[in-house]
Amino acid sequence: MVLTPHMLVGAAVGTQAPNVWVAFLFGLISHYLIDVLPHWDYLNKFEITNYKHLIKVFLDLTIGIVLILFLIWFEPQRIIILAAVFGSLLPDFLNGISMNFNSKWLRFHFQIHYKIHFLFFNILSFWQGIFPTIIVSLAAIWVLIL
Ligand SMILES: [Zn+2]
Repeated sequence: MVLTPHMLVGAAVGTQAPNVWVAFLFGLISHYLIDVLPHWDYLNKFEITNYKHLIKVFLDLTIGIVLILFLIWFEPQRIIILAAVFGSLLPDFLNGISMNFNSKWLRFHFQIHYKIHFLFFNILSFWQGIFPTIIVSLAAIWVLIL
């Protein structure tokens, strides 16, 4: 799944968390759970030296950050929510490092994370995969504006 829905779901999870640690943990877990859903992705491989890859990730992150800041700006527990967002991004951040630098431990995580994507579904085309992405994002936004 692309980064924005991960961040939105992380933020939604954060609204229910009692502290930053629980928020971070459940934000992290939410990442793997959402990756199980059928979805589309814009990158199969992330190369840190490929500016097209960097632009895609930058735009995705920027959309997520702008949406989340807009949605949680007046939330009293915004620090807790941000901890959950951080947790929700960590697996893909680790993947990015793993794909560009050699690390035995990160490769182990990469393989598990990779397999989760194909647990029940194959990666979909954009037009098939955009619907689960939008539904997940709207559900998270719904939780955030309640
Ligand atoms: Zn992932």
